[in-house]
Amino acid sequence: MGYDIETKCLHLDKREETCDKSGAISFPIYQTATFAHLGLGKSTGYDYSRLQNPTREQVEKVVANLEGGVEAVAFSSGMAAISAVMELFAPSDHIIVDDDLYGGIVRLFLNVSKKNGLDITRLNFCEEDIEKYINENTKAIYLETPTNPMMNVIDIEKISAIAKRHGLLLIVDNTFLSPYFQNPIKLGADIVVHSGTKYLGGHNDTLAGFVVAASQELAGKVKYIIKTTGAGLAPLDSWLILRGLKTLALRMEKAQDNAKKLAQWLKGRSEITRVIYPGLEEHPGHEIIKKQARGFGAMLTFEVSSKELVEKILDKVELIQFAESLGGVETLITYPITQTHADVPPEILAKNGITDRVLRLSVGIENADDLIADLEQAFS
Ligand SMILES: *Cc1c(COP(=O)(O)O)cnc(C)c1O
Repeated sequence: MGYDIETKCLHLDKREETCDKSGAISFPIYQTATFAHLGLGKSTGYDYSRLQNPTREQVEKVVANLEGGVEAVAFSSGMAAISAVMELFAPSDHIIVDDDLYGGIVRLFLNVSKKNGLDITRLNFCEEDIEKYINENTKAIYLETPTNPMMNVIDIEKISAIAKRHGLLLIVDNTFLSPYFQNPIKLGADIVVHSGTKYLGGHNDTLAGFVVAASQELAGKVKYIIKTTGAGLAPLDSWLILRGLKTLALRMEKAQDNAKKLAQWLKGRSEITRVIYPGLEEHPGHEIIKKQARGFGAMLTFEVSSKELVEKILDKVELIQFAESLGGVETLITYPITQTHADVPPEILAKNGITDRVLRLSVGIENADDLIADLEQAFS
């Protein structure tokens, strides 16, 4: 039933009437703050763009369709989306989170959610028995897989079984693999969140975030939150994500091919002490990711022999850009300890193995040999 995911990136399963009668192939940008009513009780379905705008609605439909969710809601950034999800909870609610998460989310949980009265327990989901930590106030489990930046793979179905047994919400951040490779809702998640800034947009040019809900009830709650707190994705940015999504399949395939080549090349280098890519057979999560996803993605983390070498690499890379973020067509190298994970407490960094010798690559769609040549000259 329905189209394959490659087609879904460009077309909804059913052609829908749009407000536009021109036959435009590219969905229009409805650059309007408000909508006129034809008379009392006669609405076009749109009132005010904080509540909904046709361009935002279109990108929400596409993302919901790609993830296999009931509805998606588009936010102005990934963090806005995740903050909105946290508004589902009330003081004294307890949430169990994996401890290898994007640094901004650790900052949100430790400095904002805790202040708002939420009780957060951080655990290594690959090692610890989550069930032992569930109490009568536990409401949700939160994870990313593969994790950022250590690329741990968490078994979504296994965690979902625990969540279902205890009536908890399972929230999964699917940014790293994108819906092209992984659909957590099909594996039992209740909510999927995305930094749409990354693979969905795909061009390092737009911030966006998504919440995809597996039930109408949850979607209704998230829509009430966006209507009230107001961090909706703007019409032009919604359109940029729609355009980026059209090539999601091609970009993911090419970036993954490049990542596989880079991982193999890095493995053969004497200055590299560790290569962490779930596509490598020796990765501890290799079998799990093969079971739950259709690919391994294009993020890889590696550890070099000294901090001096880190400095040299970051100084010398030319084609590869030293920048935060990921998931775009350009290859980026990130130093988690001073960038994405700068606000993560040192004991968590140490526990997760995020040392001053760890670098993260978001592999783009350039020619793989050019990327390898750039790393080669940067290493020497
Ligand atoms: C970047 C990122 C976020 C935050 O998204 P923004 O769009 O930067 O606000 C959340 N989760 C993961 C896994 C990310 O990489």
